[in-house]
Amino acid sequence: MFSPQGRQLTDVAARTLTDGLVPVGVLGATGSVGQRMVGLLEGHPWFRVAYVTGSERSRGLPYREAARWAQSRPIPPGVADMEVRATRATDEAPLVLSALDAAVAGPVETAFAQAGALVVSNARSHRMDPAVPLVVPEVNPDHLGLLDTQPTRPGGIVTNPNCSTIGLALTLAPLHRAFGVRRLHVVTLQAVSGAGIPGVSSMEILDNVIPFIGGEEEKMERETRKILGVFGGEGIEPASLEVSAQCNRVPVIDGHLACVSVELEEEPEPEEAARVMADFRGRPQRLGLPSAPRRPLHVLEADDAPQPRLHRDLEGGMAVPVGRVRGCPLLTLRFVLLSHNTLRGAAGGSLLTAELALAEGRVPGRSEVP
Ligand code: NAP
Repeated sequence: MFSPQGRQLTDVAARTLTDGLVPVGVLGATGSVGQRMVGLLEGHPWFRVAYVTGSERSRGLPYREAARWAQSRPIPPGVADMEVRATRATDEAPLVLSALDAAVAGPVETAFAQAGALVVSNARSHRMDPAVPLVVPEVNPDHLGLLDTQPTRPGGIVTNPNCSTIGLALTLAPLHRAFGVRRLHVVTLQAVSGAGIPGVSSMEILDNVIPFIGGEEEKMERETRKILGVFGGEGIEPASLEVSAQCNRVPVIDGHLACVSVELEEEPEPEEAARVMADFRGRPQRLGLPSAPRRPLHVLEADDAPQPRLHRDLEGGMAVPVGRVRGCPLLTLRFVLLSHNTLRGAAGGSLLTAELALAEGRVPGRSEVP
């Protein structure tokens, strides 16, 4: 059996391919996002976990000992006894999901792409590389075309945006198409799981709000422009809209809330803007991808919605609830959105991107879905 570059794949890859499912390597599988990935891959119709990796701390341990499991569902039995490997490049799986700490992700993910894998990464390391797609599958699926410009093809790197940016981009995309977004101001209230495991200490966050998340505001500002930008065959022309973000850490376990004020080129009634968001669908819905929500945006009517505890798990945490859509005395429109930061904002988002990549024939050696 041969990889796309003509190199021989290992016996492990040959064995795992025989069940028809695509073998997936999970990098940084022991952390907050990695655990979610492992959970979402259990029983997945297209993918199966081929191996899990971690740092030196975890190397050689069974997964159930290495991961400080923080999910309400038990560790999938097929992964619990897998030995956690060191994170070293291999071509054993044509698809790699990365939940690595950004401090190490950059060169490691490049090495996996050079070994012939398609890497779908949650880390910030490659997000702003001109040749790397930064994808929200409903918003800019065509940006996957950038993979053709990467020197490692058919291996390559695709990135998932920052967890707060994903929900924001999903709500802005239909507004931008219908009315043109000029500029916006967003204030986030972000959950503690966004800081990984163990994350912020209870002494810091209980009875408190921390009005600073390192690098987060800059990420929201620049990533939004790239996602909403135009792919012209060779590169992305960022959208010309202006973004001002203020990010806060709050004592919520999962679910980032964002209060948005946006200036539009046109002045729709709030009801019309709400309808445009509620009607929004993208390629994942048209293709019926396994992790796609039926509706990416749910516009909620209640005056006090959305709320993290009540609404974060809508459509398996993959839909973004939106509420309080109303006029703005300073700009054009105001609304509140909620996105599940480790599901839609990380593991679920990257899994959806991996499904899109497979459906579009961009996973090396796999021309069709199982
Ligand atoms: P985390 O809980 O701190 O997990 C980090 C993972 O990276 C662990 O599996 C850890 O392995 C591994 N790792 C750390 N140092 C390593 C090294 N030197 N070599 C190999 N592996 C190493 O972080 P997280 O919250 O899951 O975030 C993972 C990535 O996703 C980060 O880049 C983060 O910025 C991004 N992200 C997170 C969220 C979120 O909501 N949490 C959302 C979007 C994006 P060990 O456990 O074995 O040390």
